[in-house]
Amino acid sequence: MEERIIGLSEELLEYRYLTYYDKTKENRYINYKLQHSELSWEDIITRVEIGLDYTYYCEVESISFPDIFFVLVNKYRQLSREYIPGDLEVIAPEYNSSTLMLRHSARIAFEEMCQAAVREGYILKAISTFRSFLYQNQVYYKNWLEEQPLEQYQAERDRVSARAGHSEHQTGLAVDINDLEQTFEYTPEGIWLREHCYEYGFILRYPKGKEDITGYDYEPWHFRYLGKEMAYQLQDSGMTYDEYYVRNLRNAD
Ligand SMILES: [Zn+2]
Repeated sequence: MEERIIGLSEELLEYRYLTYYDKTKENRYINYKLQHSELSWEDIITRVEIGLDYTYYCEVESISFPDIFFVLVNKYRQLSREYIPGDLEVIAPEYNSSTLMLRHSARIAFEEMCQAAVREGYILKAISTFRSFLYQNQVYYKNWLEEQPLEQYQAERDRVSARAGHSEHQTGLAVDINDLEQTFEYTPEGIWLREHCYEYGFILRYPKGKEDITGYDYEPWHFRYLGKEMAYQLQDSGMTYDEYYVRNLRNAD
């Protein structure tokens, strides 16, 4: 074991040039590599930087600048109970299932995307957008029966619903579209969205096959606004937003 660790430490030295490398986490990189030898060092470092070597919700960082449009919210990064974006606007009624709101830029981009879809013969409607901390808390606990042990409930619920403060919906930059079923993937609207969302500055936030990185089951209906430039870059990178953020953006916020 000792020899294996020394070998890994030597290998790791070659990656110190990476901008997202953190010398204070070298022991964590090595431990994670011991458990995931199939992953490249770049992926090991990225995943430890996301926090994936820790249990979800155990090592939580408070988000200092929640208004930054590229804010990352996940199971390791939490928005405050009070945070509500200041520029929420109601989406046009033809693309809205009630009086749902997005932040100004996301609202404009979403309406543009919906208009483009209409021209192709597809109907898009927002079915969930901004959610407050308190509302997210209700969503998270809505199925909990008091007799069920809390930890057991959380283990099941965490796969499909974020805990309060950890939902991207609280940013006002995320939108669920049309249908909360896995089969949305195969609908013409679901297919069109995956192909074109980048053109309007949106990304598919919880992709298929990336559940171990995002911490969520595949959500073909959940899109996140990032702006066109970043959305395109993310698309080209093939990464999840969690990975892209720690590699390229973290030091900018
Ligand atoms: Zn969603």
